[in-house]
Amino acid sequence: MAGYDLKEGQFEKRSASDDELWSAISNVFSAKIKTNSSYKYGMFKAILDNLYNVDEQLILSFDKVFSKFAEIYWNLILKHHLKQQIQAEGKGGTYLEQIIWSAVKKYELPLDIPYESLPPEIMIDINHQVKMKCKMYVVGALFEDTRKLFYSFSKKGEWIQINPVMYEFLCKHKVIVEKLNYYQWAKFLEKVNAGDSTNLLLSKIDESAKRNNLTYYRQILFEEFENKCFYCGVNVNSKVDVDHFIPWSFVKDDCLWNLVLSCPACNRSKSDKLAAPRYLDILIDRNKKIHIERIDSSTNYEDSKLREIYYWAKVNGYDEEWRPRK
Ligand SMILES: [Zn+2]
Repeated sequence: MAGYDLKEGQFEKRSASDDELWSAISNVFSAKIKTNSSYKYGMFKAILDNLYNVDEQLILSFDKVFSKFAEIYWNLILKHHLKQQIQAEGKGGTYLEQIIWSAVKKYELPLDIPYESLPPEIMIDINHQVKMKCKMYVVGALFEDTRKLFYSFSKKGEWIQINPVMYEFLCKHKVIVEKLNYYQWAKFLEKVNAGDSTNLLLSKIDESAKRNNLTYYRQILFEEFENKCFYCGVNVNSKVDVDHFIPWSFVKDDCLWNLVLSCPACNRSKSDKLAAPRYLDILIDRNKKIHIERIDSSTNYEDSKLREIYYWAKVNGYDEEWRPRK
């Protein structure tokens, strides 16, 4: 973790293109960067979760960032039993795992106690210890890994200040950056946790990114709707495609609320493009009629979510509006 021993750092005060900012963030997850523990993922999440808690100068105190960090790890370690580092024999895990386990022992805490139920003085003690370790090992490393474009920091003052250019970028792409972080984090956890504890986590991610056989959905769509192409209205019978309304390459997911029946011609011509906004409205109407929860109980569908993903897809370069040929 290069940079971990810096006492302070200043973000580069200059404009940066979105491409450059993406690249700075991707660099954190790059194979070039050696990753021994999950700290950088945790700090990234702690900052994203605090994105709207910055002051007018975009400053976040270490206390704010690392109490969130402590909470995240508390849950991962105690509730989900996820190790955060490959453990050498006889070693007790990362510093954070040690802090958490020794607090449990010292205060004789029940193992299932949620973080928010900790007595205040114990919470303060844990947060403080976590902060001191993160200050030592994480703040400077993430600063370097993001090529000095993410934030400035002072270990003496105990704050980070987010680069305004990056701040705007993160607001614009918050969910996507979050997903990227979760995905990389889970991939890391998979390597570290040999048992079945990450199976659920991983299979969720894996299944959400896998192109399943869509026959199942085709059948449901056939049962629920007329046999018409969602886009051009032509009758479809045996020759019908299942189309991802918001392109799969963007959502990496096969959710019923994003799937429509399409004639092969429309499907081919639409390909990787986003349909015009009026089709979004039609899809939202359609999703009201379909019993999504009954068919897919794990879905978290909301109209507003679909609208947001549509918007994000546009922001992410899916900005050509496709319409069917009449
Ligand atoms: Zn069509």
